[in-house]
Amino acid sequence: MNKSPIIDPATDRTPRIWDPVHECMGREELELLQMTRLHATLERVYRNVPCYRAKFDAFGVTPGDLHALSDLAKFPFTDKEDLRLNYPYGMFAVPLREVVRIHSSSGTTGKPTVVGYTRSDLQTWTELAARFMTAAGVTEDDIVHIAFGYGLFTGAFGLHYGAERIGASVIPMSSGNTDKQIMIMQDYRSSALVCTPSYALTIADRMEKLGIDPASLNLRVGLFGAEPWTQELRREIETRLGIVATDNYGLSEVMGPGVAGECLCRCGMHIFEDHFIPEIIDPDSGRTLPPGEVGELVLTCITKEAFPMIRYRTRDITRLDYAPCACGRTQVRMAKTMGRSDDMLIIKGVNVFPTQIEEVLFRIEGCEPHYQLVIDKVGAMDVLEVQVEVNERIFFDEMKRQRAFVDFVEKKLASALGVGARVKLVEPSSIKRHEGKAQRVIDKRNPSI
Ligand SMILES: [Zn+2]
Repeated sequence: MNKSPIIDPATDRTPRIWDPVHECMGREELELLQMTRLHATLERVYRNVPCYRAKFDAFGVTPGDLHALSDLAKFPFTDKEDLRLNYPYGMFAVPLREVVRIHSSSGTTGKPTVVGYTRSDLQTWTELAARFMTAAGVTEDDIVHIAFGYGLFTGAFGLHYGAERIGASVIPMSSGNTDKQIMIMQDYRSSALVCTPSYALTIADRMEKLGIDPASLNLRVGLFGAEPWTQELRREIETRLGIVATDNYGLSEVMGPGVAGECLCRCGMHIFEDHFIPEIIDPDSGRTLPPGEVGELVLTCITKEAFPMIRYRTRDITRLDYAPCACGRTQVRMAKTMGRSDDMLIIKGVNVFPTQIEEVLFRIEGCEPHYQLVIDKVGAMDVLEVQVEVNERIFFDEMKRQRAFVDFVEKKLASALGVGARVKLVEPSSIKRHEGKAQRVIDKRNPSI
């Protein structure tokens, strides 16, 4: 299949830019716009949200202290704990009667948090979803198959309205029932698939089992998000489904999907900086890091009415790249997230992200793209066990050869992670498949996780 990355296969042209005025704005002009919007937002939350007023007062800052964008660093962070303390509606900056939609965070950790949207917030969300879906090559000719769960989770609705705004045909399939998903994809000629990357893999596996050739489908592009994934997983999905797989980013607390998305250059996700100001901080000290360094992404909403987050700690680990992009968009790109700082495993004092392990496994011939991490303590020592599916040839191989394979994988992991891991080979198809976000870590050191 001939799919050059910056040519839209549907039109044979460079894909259009949804909102060139904002997406291609000069840096100086953008910063002026950010400054005006940020100032208005700070004023509004200080006036309307007691939690922000109390936090600003405790820090000795008022919205009047913002003279330059860099002054944002003087303001306190907001985190999940603030949302919990103000559950359910305490962080809303408008009266409930102005709120037209309520969602909730996906609740990956702890109690879900409640988020709200005014009519204008929903319009913004729809526009931004249309932006990143257009950047991924979706046009009015596409049939967009949404296999995210519809409900309190923002994923499905965000892309649903974005696709309709573009003029594509939307199939609100929701998650689960993989066989039916595949049947609908075949019969309705779905061309764009929206789901988590791990579910895309589940679909590919199932198609293989059913003897369905992906080339017989109309699928050409995938818009995957809601969990961190690696370039290796991207290649795997692209090869197996015969599509271009793109990444997008968002979180319910900040808006939902549509905070950032990849263009077809696929060299980072453009953050829509006319609506969100990104910062990268050291997750331990909270210090702002210089551009290009890896750290925790902090986002400030500058156009949200109902639920504007100021310096929200996303817990997502990434890096920002301000270099110009070949697509013509000027907005900063964030690298694929390496994981959440919450997902970071500390094994014998070394920081390990599940995505690092995934990267290693994907490069090894014979390893299947399904794995599970089990962490336990033996005495005072942390032990990381990587259970990995292997193909039948290796699984049923003679003991000596299998042992050599395990040694090889363990050596590769140790050199990539800086800490040893025990590898256990498991039978093909024995690791649980996921219909939503993958749960890959079992931490027996802390039974609550
Ligand atoms: Zn670009």
